[in-house]
This record gives sequence, C-alpha cells and structure tokens, in this order.
Amino acid sequence: MAILPDHSSTQITQREMTQNQPIPCPECDRIKYFEGLCYACNNRKLREHYELMTKDQIEETIKNIIDKIETIDQWEDVYKDFSGLLAYQDIDTKEISKSAFEKNVFYPPTLYRNASEETQDKLIELILKPDCKEANHILSCLAVIGSEKVREVFYELENNPLPWRKKLHVNPSFYASLGGWTFDESGKRTELNYKECFSIANEEREDNAIIIGEAKSENCSVCSCQTVNILTLNGNDKRLSFLGLNGTLKIPICPNCASMCEKTIIRYQLDGESSFEIIEPFADENYILEDDFKKLTTNNLKLSQSKKPPYFSCGNDDVSTIGGNPEWVQDWQYESCPDCQKKMKLLSAISWDQVLEGSEGILYIEICTDCSVVATFHQQT
Ligand SMILES: [Zn+2]
Ligand SMILES: [Zn+2]
Ligand SMILES: [Zn+2]
Repeated sequence: MAILPDHSSTQITQREMTQNQPIPCPECDRIKYFEGLCYACNNRKLREHYELMTKDQIEETIKNIIDKIETIDQWEDVYKDFSGLLAYQDIDTKEISKSAFEKNVFYPPTLYRNASEETQDKLIELILKPDCKEANHILSCLAVIGSEKVREVFYELENNPLPWRKKLHVNPSFYASLGGWTFDESGKRTELNYKECFSIANEEREDNAIIIGEAKSENCSVCSCQTVNILTLNGNDKRLSFLGLNGTLKIPICPNCASMCEKTIIRYQLDGESSFEIIEPFADENYILEDDFKKLTTNNLKLSQSKKPPYFSCGNDDVSTIGGNPEWVQDWQYESCPDCQKKMKLLSAISWDQVLEGSEGILYIEICTDCSVVATFHQQT
C-alpha cells in the first residue's frame, strides 16, 4: 500500500477561505490563501514520491491496484497510484488490464495500454456486438491498445457501422486518435503522438535545446500585446532528433490572444523565420500585465536531460512536455493541417501556470512537418 504525502494541507477549509489572508508557500514563496504547500509544490512532491519508488514498492502498489481495481472510479488512492505509476514509472499494465476487464472496469482507457492479445480480443468481441452497451469506453480502451488488429476492426466498423454507432457522436477513426493514431479513408494509419517524451522544468544550467517565451519586437494586431516565440526548438540538439527538424523552429504567438481565440496557425521555416495568424479571436483586450510578460520572457525553463515516460504529462504534476502522450483538459483534439488537411501531430503541451504564474489551462502545439505548419490551441477546465 503506497503511503501518499499528506493532502490535508491543500484542503481549503471554510475558515481559511473567509480569512482571505495571503500566505506564501513555505517552499516557493508563491502567494495563496490557504495553509501549507501550494498546489504546484504539493504536486511536485507527489511526483517525486512515485519517481523515488523502489522496484518492490512499485510491485506492491501494482498488486494493490489489481486487488482494488473496481474502486478506481472513486478518484482516490487506486486512481492516484495508477496514474502516478503510469506517468512516472512507465509501468506495464498487462495484469492490471486483465483484472480490470474481469471486473468490467473500462476507465481510464490507459489501463489497457499493455493489454494481452487475449484481453484485446475480448474487448473486440464486445465491440462487435450490435447492442454493445459501453461502446464509448470499449472504443477508447481499444484505441489505447492501438494494434494492427484494432486498426482493422475500427476500419471495418467505420465503413459498416453497427447499431451502437447511432448513440455516439464520432467515428471510430476519431476514437483512434485518443490512442495517438488514426487512419484515412483507405485505412492507412498515421501516428499522432511522438513516442519520445521530454519534460520542461525550471533548472539552473546552460542548455539551448529549447527556449520558452522569447520576447519579439512585434505587437499583436488584435490586442496590441507584445508577442513572443512561445517555443523555440533547436532541431539539431540530439535529444530532439526524433522530431526530424533540421534547423531551428520558432513558434510565435500572442500570449494574450493564444487562450482567447479558436487557434493560432504558424507557418515556419527551419532558419527560424515564422509568421502567425490568429483564428477567430474572442476579444481584443490585453490582460497580460507588464510584470507577467517579464516573467514569461525571463524564465529558466530547460528541456530535461533524459527521456521521460510517454505518459509523463498524465501524472498529477502540471509540467510542460515535448512529444509523448498528452493529458487533455477537455476532449482530445488533433487539428487538421490547413494546407494538406491531414491530422497534425502533437509536438508539445505547455502548462500556462508554468510560464505565467496563476494562469490556468494548457496550450497544445501540433505540427505538420510536410507543410511546415504549426497549430496551437488552448484548453482549460
Ligand atoms: Zn510552492
Ligand atoms: Zn493578441
Ligand atoms: Zn500539412
């Protein structure tokens, strides 16, 4: 049984809420209105708890997850342990998925990522029933498995839908993208996530693989806010070679409009030249204060020195990532490239709180390397 760090410190009591006194976090000095650690420090501690687990502790925790799998929907210890181990220890979920299937547990779908062929086939058997009751969940689990056999079944179901399809809003090819892949009309498969994943964190060291929040001299044509290259990638850095970018990719946005528009479309060249276009802005008022802009453009955010597990961003800690499987705040979303119409690939997810303290949500960055186009969009709860 895992011993979790004390969460009681983050519970805001009625008394503390009405008290309304600013209390700095004892670890990072961030101002908040409750006793104890701030959410960011608390989440970091929880991540470290899982990262530091020994092999025996991991095995014991997995055993506990298997024994109590039917309680995972209560969002308590079993759920926390599962997402913590998936995100930070990259655990194999074969045995967990077996137990989950036996107890009719189909959420979260990542339970099934390493499902055996036997478990996969049982899921397929369920989805091939014309009156499948939980088609939504079963499709999600199969999408996460994402094998060639799943692709064949999805392609067949897309072309010859069963009665349960009427109750769903989207096609199997859309469910597939929850698993980080999809297929076109001819059934041809495309990957939507990179398998490699690196994290971005504040660190005191020299490293020029990425730059987060580099001030630009131009101001936004919609709201007049000064613009930034939210992300600059040095494609020649060894760690980023999986991206296949032979040069420097700069991703300019308006930091104010980025979360107040449908999306931003960026066209880039690998010599660092880029231009952007804000699609359907909701407002034209600039809410970014001078101080915030300064913090955004003078950070110590660095690319992690080593690879992280592919589900790193699905842990509790609100950190930014390059590559890997995203944690979606809302429904999963892969933009179509405005030039070739193909689905774009998830390049990065930037946690706003990490770059603009106190801001909520995530900026997702997707790329079509065929057309040298990037799309960014914002999600928040
Ligand atoms: Zn803190
Ligand atoms: Zn703007
Ligand atoms: Zn394209």
